[in-house]
Amino acid sequence: MSLRHYNALASGNRATGIHLLDIASTSPSRLNHRAGQNSTSIGSSVTNNGTSASGTNSQRNSSERESVYGGRTRSDIIDEDRRYDRSSPGKQLGLNGLKNIGNTCFMNSVIQCLSNTKLLLEYLKKDSHVADINTTVSSMKGALIKAFALVIKELWSEDSSERVVNTVSLKSQIQRFAPRFMGYSQQDAQEFLRYLLEGLHEDVNRVATKPSPIHTEIDENLSDSDKATESWQRYVRRENSKVVDIFVGQLKSTLRCTHCGHCSVTFDPFWDLSLPIPQKSGPVRLSQCLESFTREETLDGDEKPTCAKCKERRKCTKSLSIHKFPKILVIHLKRFSPTERFRGKLSVVVDFPLEGLDMSNYAAEAHSQCRYNLYAISNHSGTTYSGHYTAYCRHPYSQSWHEYNDSRVSTIMPRSIVSGEAYVLFYELDSKLSHL
Ligand SMILES: [Zn+2]
Repeated sequence: MSLRHYNALASGNRATGIHLLDIASTSPSRLNHRAGQNSTSIGSSVTNNGTSASGTNSQRNSSERESVYGGRTRSDIIDEDRRYDRSSPGKQLGLNGLKNIGNTCFMNSVIQCLSNTKLLLEYLKKDSHVADINTTVSSMKGALIKAFALVIKELWSEDSSERVVNTVSLKSQIQRFAPRFMGYSQQDAQEFLRYLLEGLHEDVNRVATKPSPIHTEIDENLSDSDKATESWQRYVRRENSKVVDIFVGQLKSTLRCTHCGHCSVTFDPFWDLSLPIPQKSGPVRLSQCLESFTREETLDGDEKPTCAKCKERRKCTKSLSIHKFPKILVIHLKRFSPTERFRGKLSVVVDFPLEGLDMSNYAAEAHSQCRYNLYAISNHSGTTYSGHYTAYCRHPYSQSWHEYNDSRVSTIMPRSIVSGEAYVLFYELDSKLSHL
C-alpha cells in the first residue's frame, strides 16, 4: 500500500509541500531570470563587486563596524562578549559579511542562516566533520563540506579585523555538486538550501556502502508508532549523518477511504515544510499557514487513490501531521508559485512568533516535544523577477539579532524581524524543554 499511497500523495495538491531527499523532483527554478549578468544592484541594496555606491572597502568596513557596534564603546562590546562567549578575547565573533561574487545574495543569505545554526556551527568549528567524511558513496568525497567549513571558520575567525569572506571556492564546489548553480544568475534561496544540505549530508554520510532501498510494504498490522520506526530505519540505513540528525523530521500522511473507512498511513522524511500562504486580506498568521498545510483534503476524480481494502479507486481524505520533530525546523513560505511563473510574488506579511512556536496542533502524537524558537530568516525583497536576499540571524552565543546583507552586517531590533520579506524561517527546538 505504501507505494500506491505515495503515488497518491505525489499527485495530491499538497505534494509540493513535502520535500523528500529526491532532488530530481525539485521544481524548476523560478528566479532564474537574470542570467548573463554578473552583478546585481536592486533597489537600495549594495553589491560588493568593487563599484558599489557606498565607496571603497575600507570606507565601507569602517561604517560596518559602527553599525555593528551600534555606538557602544569597544570595551562595552568586550564586556558583553566575555559574558556570552568565553572563547572570544576581544570581539563578538561570527559577524563577518560575505562578498557578493555576482548575484550570490541567495547563497550568502542561506550561508549566514546556517552559520548561526549552533549545532552545525559547532560540528564544523570543532572539525568533528573531518572524521565523518565519506570517501566511498559521496559524489564530492568531502570537498563540499571542507569548502563550506572553511567559509564558516572565516565567518567565525578570531582575527580582530573585520573581514568580508569570499565564497569563490565554495561556489565552485557547489557547482560541481549541483551544476544548476553554475553561472551568475539569481536563484531561489530555499532550493539552494535543499541542495546545499543534501551535499553536506552526502559528504558526511555514515553509510559507507549503500544498501538497496527496501521497496516491500511495511506490515499494515504494525502500530503507527512501529510503522514510523520501521520507515525511519529504512531511511537511515541509506541516509545517516550529523546533517540528518539536525534537520530531518518525519511526516505522517493519513489516507482514509470514504467508502469503507479504511485508514492507511505512511511516514516520510522531510527536510523542511513548504507552507502555502492562505489568500486573504490583511496579515496572515503562521498558524494559518500550518493549518492549511495539515488540513484534511479530499482526493477525488483523477486524484482518487486505490483503497487497499476495497481494492478499488475510492474518494479518500488525506491529512498530514508531524511524527518526528527535527532539532531544526525549516519553514519555507511559498511566496512564489512553482507552476504559475507569472502569478507574481505573495508579499503579504506572515506573522510568526520569535519564541515559543507551539507545533502541538500539528503533531501526530499528543506528547511530542514541539516548541520552537526562531533564530534565523532568509528574507527576499523585491519581485519574482528582480529581488535581493538578506538574512536576519540571532547570534548563537550573545542572542542579539543582526542583519546580514552580503558584505554588510548590522544590528537589528527584534521588533523589525517580522516582515513581508520573510521567506525561509529557521526554528530550533526549545532546549529548555528537550533537556527535561
Ligand atoms: Zn475502502
